[in-house]
Amino acid sequence: MYRVTIDREACDGVFACLTRDPRFVEDDDGLATFDADGGNVERTDETVVGTFEDERVADAEDAAAACPFDAITVEAVEGEP
Ligand code: SF4
Repeated sequence: MYRVTIDREACDGVFACLTRDPRFVEDDDGLATFDADGGNVERTDETVVGTFEDERVADAEDAAAACPFDAITVEAVEGEP
């Protein structure tokens, strides 16, 4: 399982992430959010947190590397069912 966090305050709607991982989509505010697509997505004013249990962590890491504002964090989630 892994967790992908978008920092909505750092995100500036460049959408480099969208071309690396189709789970990233544009929201009503013109910032990045997730299409849950089998995962779980929680959104607050500051962040969007997607938790996924699949083989696409490399796609999320590519999106994080492509973001010019370092707004995306990918981390492994250990010890959760
Ligand atoms: S690449 Fe970064 S700044 Fe651009 S939309 Fe995605 S998260 Fe936001």
